[in-house]
Amino acid sequence: MSKAKGLDETKIDKIAKSHMPALGIDLGGTNIRAAAVRDNEIITETERIPTPDGRDNIIEGILELISKFQKDVLVGVGIATAGIVNGDTGEIIGSTGNLPGWSGTPLKQVLEAKLGIPVHVENDANAAGYAEARIEALKRKRCVVTVTLGTGIGGGIVMHGRLFRGANWAAGEVGHIKIALDNKRLCTCGLFDCWEAYGAGRGVIQTAQELLEGVTEAQSPLAKNVDEITTYEIFDAGDAGDIMAQKIVNRWHEHISHGLVNIAHILNPDCFVITGGLSENIDFRLLEDMVADRSLPRVGESIEIRQSALQGQAGIIGAAQFVSDEFLSTRK
Ligand SMILES: [Zn+2]
Repeated sequence: MSKAKGLDETKIDKIAKSHMPALGIDLGGTNIRAAAVRDNEIITETERIPTPDGRDNIIEGILELISKFQKDVLVGVGIATAGIVNGDTGEIIGSTGNLPGWSGTPLKQVLEAKLGIPVHVENDANAAGYAEARIEALKRKRCVVTVTLGTGIGGGIVMHGRLFRGANWAAGEVGHIKIALDNKRLCTCGLFDCWEAYGAGRGVIQTAQELLEGVTEAQSPLAKNVDEITTYEIFDAGDAGDIMAQKIVNRWHEHISHGLVNIAHILNPDCFVITGGLSENIDFRLLEDMVADRSLPRVGESIEIRQSALQGQAGIIGAAQFVSDEFLSTRK
């Protein structure tokens, strides 16, 4: 008996599984969070545990989180982690300051053997970029670059809906673009004058310390405790009208714009999405003007710079959505 058109086994399998959620897990230096995701949206409560110390304990923690979800209705598990990740083997191949000993972990292999369902491991900035570029307003764009501003600077490049990973999985490591000469600031990577040495949290602090040199407490309350100054104090003082703080924040915007301009001239993106803990302090209008001023007209004029729509959820969503999309693309 011939089968009805469109109802062969592969298609039945696809229909049955295509709307199953995937589990997304975001492994950060402070905590590990997990939630089920469907159609680029979180559809369950987010479960979380503090990130344990050491490779084996982290893997145990991930398995503990997964056990809180019903595995047999999941199409697979996606994990967003710090570090450079081989997207084929799911091995962490680049070192990560926040997760000592994590480099070298064959995470996909270990988890698939325990779970029996597909696992995909992705760099966290890539996962966030993948989710951001899939929101309704951006999913038909040619090139979307997501920049994560926090303790470091990460990047996720999505071209025509696909993540661009480069020759050795390290594309989008935009935090290490060089934006100054003369070896002024040492980056955590060992190189000098990387973008994140200026644009990430500790970069803002170093800029503040340089600009506050010789400033008295009467001129700016920020001068009181320069050695232990925090980004919160700087941004709060700026909001409260402190001229020195505003100068520091403005200089930070210049630093951010330098990195964006460099990326823009190589990739000519439609849009930058800015996310991460420091992104809420960005004046997006000012930043767009700075980028346009410093770019060739064809490059800078049309670039939109937008705040993340997904914020802290982007890693979970992107990692999970990648698993769902991979499933569908292999079953077409
Ligand atoms: Zn660096």
